[in-house]
Formats: sequence, structure tokens, C-alpha cells
Amino acid sequence: MDYDADKGWHSPQILPYQPIMMDPAAKVFHYGQTIFEGLKAYRTADGRILLFRPQQNLKRLNRSNERMSIPDVDEELALEALRQLVLVDQDWIPREEGTSLYIRPYVFATEPLLGVAPSRQYKFMIIMSPVGSYYAEGIHPVRIHVESEYVRAVAGGVGQAKTAGNYAAGLKAQEKASEQGYSQVLWLDGVHRKYIEEVGSMNVFFRIGDKVVTPELNGSILAGITRDSVIQMLGSWGVEVEQRRLSIEELFEAQEQGRLVEAFGTGTAAVISPVGELNWENRKIIIGEGRTGELSARLYNELTGIQRGELADPFGWVLELKGT
Ligand code: PMP
Repeated sequence: MDYDADKGWHSPQILPYQPIMMDPAAKVFHYGQTIFEGLKAYRTADGRILLFRPQQNLKRLNRSNERMSIPDVDEELALEALRQLVLVDQDWIPREEGTSLYIRPYVFATEPLLGVAPSRQYKFMIIMSPVGSYYAEGIHPVRIHVESEYVRAVAGGVGQAKTAGNYAAGLKAQEKASEQGYSQVLWLDGVHRKYIEEVGSMNVFFRIGDKVVTPELNGSILAGITRDSVIQMLGSWGVEVEQRRLSIEELFEAQEQGRLVEAFGTGTAAVISPVGELNWENRKIIIGEGRTGELSARLYNELTGIQRGELADPFGWVLELKGT
């Protein structure tokens, strides 16, 4: 679907996957005016097709649009586009356990003009790809490098928007972490360089004593949909979640006192990713003896069970896609 300043959004269409023509001066190439979303479609054992909280992705898409001076997309129309597109391609949704169809909606500035001002033309596209099981060999903890040289985002910047530049800003640290054998980067805040923000594509939770703590939404981290689901689910189990500033020193102290019980990341790709090790300036901590914690395992089972239509959905999170 295309946008022109004088016509608004127009011409929605479904086309076979193919390369697109772009003007070399399109603003997205030069000024990074673009945003995206990520969600998954699941096939149930009895053949139904489910999306997990897609309305939340579309709300976030428009919050990202707003921050990047991109015009709003009609959320009902976008949901209908998701429905039609997934149903057209439903044969691509894999059947094997743990697999799904990854869906990537995105908007980018197409106006061919080299002036720094919001574009007057955009494209909204949705592409999809089957994805294998994140945990083909069972859920297992990851090792994380805590970044202290580079910064991903600061409050007032674009950290809370799902925009390309945030991910480009993270590549250097990701490379450094991989070279040292770590699969993920944990970002600290850009001002004090000590408050925990989030992991590359996940929000993070820490079980300290009898509480679960996660960084508050401070304007520089992404409001993850899995994060919100985990907070609601833990609440329904009677586990209180504190959303507050949490420094890396507090975490290391809690570990020394034996109060850091478990840690996990949350995001669409892995759903729940237990954290077994953190390395901050060559100080290493092993969390929960490097094993998957009790809450991580339970959250993973319950959330993936709801997403795949295998467990009851008391929160009304799942949307079944039906033909008309
Ligand atoms: N933070 C960032 C930077 C991300 O890219 C993602 C993945 N979308 C998340 C957190 C987790 O968000 P969600 O649970 O909505 O996938």
C-alpha cells in the first residue's frame, strides 16, 4: 500500500514476493525514516491459524510511526491485510512442533528528495517467512555480554520506536560480543551507563529474592508485547513484578548475596530466553547455576501453549484467522 501527501494511503494489494523498484534518492536510504514490526502466525494441531495479540503490534507500529514523523496506518485495515495475507500463504505455515510463520510489517519513506524533512511518500509492506523452532534442542540459557562502550539509545531519542537505526547502532557491540563467545548484548542506559535497559531484541527480567524486577519503560527501550504478557501472566500467578530502574551494580550485589535467583529475556522470536551468564567488564556471574529457572520454564510453557492454541487463553490474547 502507498501513501502520497495529497491522497493519503491508497492502493492496497497482494503480490507475489519479488524485488521492488526504488528511486536512489528515496529518503529512507539517506535519513532512515522507516519503522517495522514482528509477529508470528501459528498452526494448531487441529489446523486453526492463530496470531498472538496482533492488535498490540499495530498499535506499536503507529507509535513508532508517530515518533518517526510517518503518517498513521489504519489499524483495522492493517489487521485485515494480515488476515488475508496469512490465509493466502497458509500452506507456508510449517506443521512441525515449535515452528511458525514470521510476519514483518514495515513502513519506509520513498519520496525521492535529498532534503532533511519528513517524506511526503511512503510504502507499507508486509513480508513473511516460515521459521524453524528457536529451541530445536529444548529451551536452554544464553550467555550475555553487558555493553559498556557503546550505547543503543537514550530517553528522548528513538529507542522506544521500532526503527532501523536502533538496530544499526547495536551491530558493533553485537559483533564484539560474538567474537567473545556471547550470543547477546545487554544494553545499559546512555547517561549514567549503569541502569539496565534491554537485550538486542528482548526485554529482560530478573528474579531477585521473592520479587521479579524489570526495567521500567523509560522512553529508550521497546515496549515488548511479550514483556507485557509476562507481567500480566506473573500477576495472575500472584507474582509481583516491579517495573523500576535497576542498576548493573545492584544485580551483581544481589548475586553476591545469593538473591539473584534467575534471569530471562522476553521477545517474539524466543518467547522466553533464560539467561545463564552475564559478563560486565570481565566480571562474570553465573545465574541459577547456568540452568533454566523455574519461572522461565513455566512462562515458556504457558505462553507457547496459549500461542499454539494448546492451552486455554484466559487473557483473550489469541486471534483466530478465518476466511470470510
Ligand atoms: N526490544 C527490542 C529492541 C526488540 O527488537 C524486541 C523484539 N520486537 C523486543 C524488545 C521484544 O518485543 P516483543 O516482545 O514485542 O517481540
